[in-house]
Amino acid sequence: MSDQDPGLTEGRARKALGQHFLFDPDILRRTALAAGPVEGRTVIEVGPGPGGLTRALLKEGVGKLIAVEADERFASALTDWPEAATGQLSVHQGDARKVHWEKLIGEAGGETPAMIIANLPYNVGTPLLVDWLKTGPWRGEMALMFQKEVAERIVAGPGTSHYGRLAVLAHAVCNAHIAFTLPPGAFRPPPKVDSAVAVLTPLPAEKRFEDVETLEKVSTAAFGQRRKMLRASLKSLAKSRGVDATEWLESCDIDPTARAETLTQEEFRALARRLTTLYASPISSRT
Ligand code: SAM
Repeated sequence: MSDQDPGLTEGRARKALGQHFLFDPDILRRTALAAGPVEGRTVIEVGPGPGGLTRALLKEGVGKLIAVEADERFASALTDWPEAATGQLSVHQGDARKVHWEKLIGEAGGETPAMIIANLPYNVGTPLLVDWLKTGPWRGEMALMFQKEVAERIVAGPGTSHYGRLAVLAHAVCNAHIAFTLPPGAFRPPPKVDSAVAVLTPLPAEKRFEDVETLEKVSTAAFGQRRKMLRASLKSLAKSRGVDATEWLESCDIDPTARAETLTQEEFRALARRLTTLYASPISSRT
C-alpha cells in the first residue's frame, strides 16, 4: 500500500465527478470510524479517488473493502495496491448509480450487512442514499460525507427548515446523526461549502417502515409544494389513486389544512400505509 498520492493532484481533479479530496490522516481516520468499528467487516466505499479513505479503512482492518470509482485513472491505480492482490480490496470501475449492490457484494466474496463509508461526490450523493434507503437489509451502518446542508436535511426533525423528504425516508429505516463537520479548506481542491459526515444506523427490523417507496411518493408530493396545505399538495397523488385528498388525510387523523413540515414521521408513515392498505395496491407496483 503506497502512502503517496498516486500523482493525481488537484490540478487534474475532475469537477464533473465532484472530486474534492481528503489527505489529513486524522480526518480520514475519524471518517473511517464514524459509524463504529470496521474491523473484519465488509465495507463499500463509493469514489475512493486517490485512496486516502481507502487506506484509512484498510489500516483499521476491514475484512473486505469494495471500492466503486467512476474515474478510470483512480480505479486503475488502486488495482495495483497489494491489498487488491490479496483480495482484501476489490476495485470496480463504473458509475455507482448503476451498481446492483447485493450482487457486487456476493461477487467480491463479501458479507452482509455491509457498511457504506464514503466521501460522496456531491452530484450523486442524494440519489445514492435514497436508493440505499429503499433497498433491503444488505445495508448496514453508513458514514457518508455530504455537503453540510444535505447532511442537515437527513437528520432534521419535524418543524425545522431542513425537514423534508430525506429526513422522512432516512428515519423510516435508520437512526441518523451528524458526526462532525468540515470547512472547505479540509479538501483539495476546496469545495464552495462546508461538508459534514452523516451517520445512519439501521433500525431493528421490527421498528423499520419497509415501504420506503410509497413513503417517498407521499413525502415528495407533500414537500414538493411545502408552503401549500396538505389537501392541495397531495391532491394529484390522491387523484391518481382515485382517492380524495381530504378524506385520505382525515382517515389518518391529520388536519387537511396542515403543512408538510408540521407532520411527524409517524404521520407520514400512516399516510403511506393508508394509501397502500386501504385504497389499492402499492404505488410502487403501479408505476
Ligand atoms: N474518497 C476520496 C477522498 O475522500 O479523498 C475522493 C472523494 S471525491 C469527493 C468523490 C469521488 O467519487 C471521486 O473520486 C470521483 O471520481 C468519484 N465519483 C464521482 N461520481 C461517481 C459515480 N457516479 N460513481 C462512482 N464514483 C464516482
